[in-house]
Amino acid sequence: MEDKRVTRRDFLLRVGALGLAGIGGSALLSACGGGQQQQQQSGAASESGTSASAELTCTDVSGLTAEEIQMRESLQYTDHSPYPDKTCANCQLYVPAESPDQCGGCQLIKGPIHPNGYCTSWVQKAT
Ligand code: SF4
Repeated sequence: MEDKRVTRRDFLLRVGALGLAGIGGSALLSACGGGQQQQQQSGAASESGTSASAELTCTDVSGLTAEEIQMRESLQYTDHSPYPDKTCANCQLYVPAESPDQCGGCQLIKGPIHPNGYCTSWVQKAT
């Protein structure tokens, strides 16, 4: 069985390759196992009828390995971007969820990703 651990060297190589390849996307997606769309939704969202993305939380890392969690932390992922014009939803690496009440994914880091989230590897989505 394939060893899915991501070493620091692997991570740096992937990030470097990403920049050089001009955001190749799909290859990295499969390499990282990205696109995994886990969700953790507050029950209040569906009950109150408030904006789904406002109530959505994408912080459940229970299915991730220690290395995957470390990568998420090292890139300072957060559900709430500190920059209004830089969110996961307009990041080239974001993998949208099937519906607005679900977390999306990321081609770079594993785990659930909020459309309003952000990390230090944010890349402007190509138009
Ligand atoms: S901002 Fe970071 S976590 Fe969000 S989609 Fe882009 S690379 Fe992934």
